[in-house]
Amino acid sequence: MTQKPRLLFATSNKGKLRELRELVGDAVEVVSLADLPPVPEPEEDAATFEGNAVKKAREYARATGLPALADDSGLCVDALDGRPGVHSARYAPGDDRARYEKLLAELAGVPDARRTAAFQCALALVLPGGETKVEVGRCEGRIGHAPRGTHGFGYDPVFVFPDKGRTMAELTPEEKAAVSHRGAAFRKMRPHLLSLLAG
Ligand code: IMP
Repeated sequence: MTQKPRLLFATSNKGKLRELRELVGDAVEVVSLADLPPVPEPEEDAATFEGNAVKKAREYARATGLPALADDSGLCVDALDGRPGVHSARYAPGDDRARYEKLLAELAGVPDARRTAAFQCALALVLPGGETKVEVGRCEGRIGHAPRGTHGFGYDPVFVFPDKGRTMAELTPEEKAAVSHRGAAFRKMRPHLLSLLAG
């Protein structure tokens, strides 16, 4: 039996880790940061999702000697000129709920037509030799007026698909993977991942 290639998922976000594990399936042996001795966390100080994803994947590949896949993602709200964007994880102190409540408060009084938003994701794969591949994905919707649903993480309860009449948090994990920014980026990355890890 041939050994599966090993891949480090360079994230400590449990929601992302769960989704990426489901997307990768069993083609590769996935190692998470929790399985390794502590590695200093790179600062996410780039101005773009792509910049941060490459920085994280590069630093973790260098520190561990493993191929590393990193995701940088966030929510860009048109009425807020693209905020919280790359600062989505740090938009408000506290938990995910504190952050989506701040978003709802900032959008108070903004009509539905101007509540358009997009989740964006950049996925970077860096091999220990430095070879790098980046893919992006995007998912469009609107910010609702109150949270709904219990699946997913982050801003999912307030991200509405007007055509489905449901929030991202009301989709099953399989339904989310089919429409999400992370699912879109991963489907583009999958062939490179398999060929680079095999090669
Ligand atoms: P970072 O990529 O670690 O900087 O964090 C991205 C942040 O964007 C997360 O902490 C969430 O707040 C938000 N985010 C990214 N992807 C999703 C998603 O699929 N659903 C909901 N929120 C997300």
